[in-house]
Amino acid sequence: TTFREGDLNRVLQDTLLLLRRECERRQVALAFTPAEVPPFPFDIEKIKQALLNLVKNALEAMPAGGTITVTTGTGNGFATIAVNDNGPGIAEADLPQIFEPFFTRKGAGTGLGLSITQRIVEEHHGRITVASESGHGTTFTIHLPVQG
Ligand code: ADP
Ligand code: MG
Repeated sequence: TTFREGDLNRVLQDTLLLLRRECERRQVALAFTPAEVPPFPFDIEKIKQALLNLVKNALEAMPAGGTITVTTGTGNGFATIAVNDNGPGIAEADLPQIFEPFFTRKGAGTGLGLSITQRIVEEHHGRITVASESGHGTTFTIHLPVQG
């Protein structure tokens, strides 16, 4: 991994541009609500990959007319990236398994996206949490330490 001081919001914004067409095609709104995040060291390519994995899952879960919101924040020595969707949510019984490699509910899913994302976050000494309610939607939040 290559850690460099970077502008998190800028990296996320660039990544979301890659997803704009696919969102338009599926008629899903993609919103970005950045908060000020001071530069801190992270691996740009890996954080891009982590965001792509989360937003792709949101897109795949969501019917037309849905909304995905990516939000950043800071506090307690962490920068946070939250990916919220108002899709179908994750069944409570599935929640303990979703980060396991090869766990998928999709016909042609690999089940690797979340396990890779979790590994990336752990390489940054951060953590990833999920809050989801069936029928209401899902929020994944990545917490990355900003160090000194
Ligand atoms: P895959 O996308 O190949 O299935 P992932 O590791 O990315 O593998 O996701 C694992 C499972 O977690 C998905 O199959 C799905 O059941 C669930 N999941 C992940 N994100 C969401 C989401 N935003 N909404 C609903 N279910 C989700
Ligand atoms: Mg996936």
